[in-house]
Amino acid sequence: MRVLAIANQKGGVGKTTTAINLGTALAAIGENVLILDLDPQGNASTGLGVDRHARRFSTYDVLLGEKALASVIQPTAVPRLSIAPSTLDLLGVELEIASRRDRAYALKSALEGLVAEASDASEPQAFTYVLIDCPPSLNLLTMNAMAAAHSVLVPLQCEFFALEGLSQLLSTVEEIRRTLNPALSIHGIVLTMFDQRNSLAGQVVADVRAFMGDKVYDTVIPRNVRVSEAPSHGKPVLLYDLKCSGSQAYLKLASEVIQRERRYRIADPVLSE
Ligand code: ADP
Ligand code: MG
Repeated sequence: MRVLAIANQKGGVGKTTTAINLGTALAAIGENVLILDLDPQGNASTGLGVDRHARRFSTYDVLLGEKALASVIQPTAVPRLSIAPSTLDLLGVELEIASRRDRAYALKSALEGLVAEASDASEPQAFTYVLIDCPPSLNLLTMNAMAAAHSVLVPLQCEFFALEGLSQLLSTVEEIRRTLNPALSIHGIVLTMFDQRNSLAGQVVADVRAFMGDKVYDTVIPRNVRVSEAPSHGKPVLLYDLKCSGSQAYLKLASEVIQRERRYRIADPVLSE
């Protein structure tokens, strides 16, 4: 099971869209995927068709330690794609667990519990990928995600200030590596909402590639109206319109993610265990 935190402290850069659609694309090519919604806004849950009223228990109960992760997971309309939904209660979680010594490891323990349960039951459907949709802030929720993850996937919107927030995010990852999770790596940076007609966007892509080198995925996600329409139908764009440029880009990204995983496993014997 590989755990990827989809993080960027800026809002509106495509974290949730990437969690939903990369998750769907990975499921479409045979992976068993869990999307963990750690944003109190719950957009990943809504975008996957989980109605607010259908979220009796959520990642909030899991972080508090009151529910096992397995018990809040729900199936979606996509085969092999499940979701652990969030609710607005998550807004309070920071205060509620602030005094606990292991507060940054709440999610990590929940995921360990899930793995133990799956191997007990020799579950054939064990998850191969967990994608964590982080809130737009470097708060305790995002710290929990980074403490539990093998790596971080960073969506970056193709706009003028794209690089500005990136260095803060990179130093946070560095800090987490020093303190909570020495094995944490940057999986990659995905450029989102690329608009061909905007000459500035091409310059942003070139700048980010110059700064971050091969950490940047080859796949660039285009700005595509079908991508933004899909959530209001409670569907990933791949179910809404498979042929559109956004769906095709997320399928390409999924195969790149898997390719990188293989490369990392070969390069790092610890990861291949
Ligand atoms: P975040 O989770 O980082 O806040 P979202 O994934 O919710 O960002 O995206 C912000 C907004 O941009 C949403 O309305 C979403 O539908 C839209 N959006 C994201 N990616 C694309 C895209 N490739 N093309 C068009 N609209 C997009
Ligand atoms: Mg979001």
